[in-house]
Amino acid sequence: MSDRTTTTDPEDLARRYGTPLYVYDLDRLRAARRDLFGWLPDGFEVFYAFKANPHVDLVRALREGEGPACKAEISSTGELAAALEAGYPGADILYTGPGKTPEELNTAIGSGVRTFSAESLTDLEHIGAAATRHGTVADCLLRINSAQASATTSIRMTGAPTQFGIDSETVAELAPKLREVPGTAIAGLHLFSQSNARDEEALIGELTHTIEVAAAIQDDLGVELRLLDIGGGFSVPYAQHGERAAYPKLKAELEAALDVHFPRWRQGAPRLAVESGRYLVGDSGTLVARVSNVKVSRGRKFVIADAGINTFGGMSGLGRLLPVTVSVEAGAETEKASLVGPLCTPGDVLGRQIEVPVLEAGDLVRIPNTGAYGPTSSLLMFLGRPAPAEAVVSAGELVSVTRIAHVRTSLRQEDTGE
Ligand SMILES: *Cc1c(COP(=O)(O)O)cnc(C)c1O
Repeated sequence: MSDRTTTTDPEDLARRYGTPLYVYDLDRLRAARRDLFGWLPDGFEVFYAFKANPHVDLVRALREGEGPACKAEISSTGELAAALEAGYPGADILYTGPGKTPEELNTAIGSGVRTFSAESLTDLEHIGAAATRHGTVADCLLRINSAQASATTSIRMTGAPTQFGIDSETVAELAPKLREVPGTAIAGLHLFSQSNARDEEALIGELTHTIEVAAAIQDDLGVELRLLDIGGGFSVPYAQHGERAAYPKLKAELEAALDVHFPRWRQGAPRLAVESGRYLVGDSGTLVARVSNVKVSRGRKFVIADAGINTFGGMSGLGRLLPVTVSVEAGAETEKASLVGPLCTPGDVLGRQIEVPVLEAGDLVRIPNTGAYGPTSSLLMFLGRPAPAEAVVSAGELVSVTRIAHVRTSLRQEDTGE
């Protein structure tokens, strides 16, 4: 077979390149980007959270082409390398995370990153020390852990004791110190209180509340904000059938809240931003796995596939193994079975007693909406299996097919000959 395949059908690609295989469709990713900018007031910026999927072809597509470009929200030097490779200028990168080390701050600033989310006074001091070493000043968004939040959401990240952000009730007292950290300028605020808000009312409630909180914090700080990142929560099904959420009322509600709390926002004071990972990439991905075996245990059927929590099941480290749904071939008969992976642990379950086609060893199964929190949030190294292959397609053409490699290297100079 020639490598110049004319088909971008996931199962054809799986037969050619092997399984497990992710196929990401850039057309869908571009549609998600267009929709997300469309739900927001004009002029809003969108930071793409690289942790959802740092594949360089995907992050490049979020920056290039028609329409407003995404900026990058990263939190490691690995994600920094992906952002730089994909062409994001330092000015379009926001560096976040609760445990930034001096080495990574040094690398980030040396690469031209100038905007950081600061999670505490000491984090701000670390950023300032690195910036000073480079003879520059870092623009810092203070990440705020708001005392109250407004809506019910699936991952609540504020209001409780946490490693994230500065407790909102302490800002007024800390303000003189926060304003004086050498090598830093307080450029704005960063609030991220929720993930995956399926319900539009909940999302609107949370984001408008965030705007209100930010206005109060601005007063406590005594600094005029230049950039306000209100977080996100934009939702897409995770390995389940279904469509990305729609937010038709969001734009008007955000505009109304901003007119009250930041009357000069339409003149860019402050600039406004949201962050999103899953919404932008989630529905671009399809995971194709091959069935290795089918067995029955005490009356229950188990479909054993070559993709397990080493391939998918992002957040498995957080005990957040979410059920997946296998797409059913049209007209196919279905039955109940557990879809499990190949690993020697009973935790390797991708779906317990779910509806699956009648399968046998050698069959392919497709799991939809797997573009976010796939390979890089899975237990890739566990049990020494190769990482899944990842194919990228665009406008009916195959763009790339790659696999992440794990390589053990020696750190001793005498072994490396340095
Ligand atoms: C994880 C994360 C995101 C992305 O969340 P999604 O639910 O994928 O949109 C955005 N911002 C921060 C600070 C995060 O930690």
